[in-house]
Parts: sequence; C-alpha cells; structure tokens
Amino acid sequence: MLPKVYFVIPCYNEEEMLPYTIQKMGEKLQSLIESKLISDESKVVFVDDGSKDRTWELIKAATKDKRFLGIKLSRNCGHQNALMAGMGYSVKFCDCVITLDADLQDDINVIDEFIKKFEEGYDVVYGVRSSRKTDTFFKRFTAQSFYRLMRAFGVEIVYNHADYRLLSKKALEFLMQFEERNLFLRGIIPLIGLKSTIVYYERQERIAGKTKYPLKKMLSFAFEGITSFSVKPIKYITSAGFLMFLLSIAILIYAIVQKIRGQAIAGWTSLTISIWFIGGLQLVALGLIGEYIGKIYKEVKRRPLYFIEEIAEDAQEQ
Ligand code: UDP
Ligand code: MG
Repeated sequence: MLPKVYFVIPCYNEEEMLPYTIQKMGEKLQSLIESKLISDESKVVFVDDGSKDRTWELIKAATKDKRFLGIKLSRNCGHQNALMAGMGYSVKFCDCVITLDADLQDDINVIDEFIKKFEEGYDVVYGVRSSRKTDTFFKRFTAQSFYRLMRAFGVEIVYNHADYRLLSKKALEFLMQFEERNLFLRGIIPLIGLKSTIVYYERQERIAGKTKYPLKKMLSFAFEGITSFSVKPIKYITSAGFLMFLLSIAILIYAIVQKIRGQAIAGWTSLTISIWFIGGLQLVALGLIGEYIGKIYKEVKRRPLYFIEEIAEDAQEQ
C-alpha cells in the first residue's frame, strides 16, 4: 500500500506567494503519485493563520481541486500553532505528514527522499539545510548564535533544521499528547523519540512577499524556545548568588584589613561589607525561589512521561 501523505502548509498573508505555491505543490503531488511514491488520496493542507489579505480566498478557490484542503484559523495564532492545527487535523486521515513553508524556500525536490526514508521505517525525518548561503550575514549570525545558545542551555535541537520535516502517524499521535501552551516544535520533536533521520537540502530565497519573521518576532521566538525548555537561566542566578557571597567574604577580609591599617574612613567598612553581603544573600534567595518556580513550571507543562512505541505479545514462531 502506498502511503497517504498530507502536506501541511501554514500561510500568513501569503497572497503574493500562494498562486505559485498552489501550482508547484499541485505539480509535485501529481508527479509523486505518478511515480508511485504516494497514494492518490494524498492531499495538500493549507492552514490560513488569520491572514488579513486575500490568502483565504485563494485557498478556498484552490480547494475546487479535491487534492487541496483549507483550514482557516479565527485569528493569527502564530506559525507553530498553525502547524499544530494542520497536523492535528491531518493525523486522523494520513499515514504521514510533511510540513513546509508557504514560500517554498524549503526545496520540494527532496520530498521524494523524505518519503523513501519513511518507507524505510523512519518515523521522523528532519530536513536540514546543508548551508546558509542564501541568508544575509545577519540572519546567519543570529540563527547560529541561537542554536549555540540553545545547546548551552541544554535544549536538544537539530542544528540548522527549521520546520521542514516528515512525521509518521505514530509520531503525530505522540506529539498530540503534549499539552503545553508555549509551543516550540523544534524542541519537542526530539523528545518524542522513535527512529529519526536527516535529509539535507539547499534553502532557496523567498520568491515573492516578505518574511513574516521580522527581527522582533525572531527574538521572541528564540526567547520562547529557551524559556520553554530550560530552567538553566534560574540556576545561573543561584550560582551568581553564591559567587557574590564568596566575594563578600573576600571583601569582608579586605575591609577589615583596611580598617586595621587605618586607611578606611569612618563608616566605610560596615557599609561595604553590608552591601556585598546583602547583595549575595538576596541573589541566593531569588535563585532558591526560582528553583521552586522552575519545578512548578515543569509540572504545569504536563508533558507526557513516556510513549509506548510498540507492545509485543504472543509472538508466533514463523
Ligand atoms: N507564518 C504563519 N503565521 C505567522 C508567521 C508566519 O503561519 O504568524 C507562516 C508563513 O506564512 C510561512 C511560514 O510561516 O509559510 C514561515 O514564515 P517565513 O517564510 O516568513 O519565515 P522565514 O522563512 O523568513 O524564516
Ligand atoms: Mg520563508
């Protein structure tokens, strides 16, 4: 049986891009079906993320062709949530989902490879950019710093992988068990486990329309990524507090020595000591409270504790 593949494409104000995307995806779907890689019941699912332009009209018009499907969100919920909406819908009907951006910056020619990997038994296939040639220096620099920072904070993510990926039905079902509100898919997918692999591709430039990720959104996305996965920043406060505390002891000795040598003016010793001592104490206390908040934060996420990939029972001898 050929796999039924749903392509999930989030769209936010993409009227300039969509006519091209719809045509290209239609052609790609056709060629995949003809080369007997995917079932002819496969579909392209466009998720309109509360666009303010003609995006939804274009999507609706495209659905005259029954290989296209449209989902309209009531407001702009953000890229990650739009992806979740599309995948949450598709999981009921498909064997696997491939998510990609509406601007087709992610090379659609490697889809064949994605599907081959899926057929080989991989549940998660990550599309990874082989280089960042098409990026501006600024984007390249910020993106790389972001990945480094995430690593430093102990968040496991795949380097140079955006949201171009294939997920099997099983992986999708696991993903749907995450109930957290601050979604950062790149961080969550590795937590699912299952067999995963990487397919490399060259990222193209955006053909039409503008990026929907201006600097402000990018920064908040990065911040979201770190704070929804790591409590390390809190731990750093605690460490800083202890450091201050040690320092205050050194200052204490220094201040007393100065006093004995008669080099301190009246009041300086006690003032200096208290500033450092209280400062250190406050930071330690803040860090300690932070540790508890960190625990609460982990609890409220209600992340699934485990996923059962398979159960073996009554194995019959062949
Ligand atoms: N997008 C979305 N909601 C948003 C912002 C972006 O659905 O609030 C979609 C957008 O239409 C595109 C994808 O997310 O399909 C990636 O956005 P974009 O290409 O602008 O990001 P970049 O490639 O510049 O990082
Ligand atoms: Mg893009």
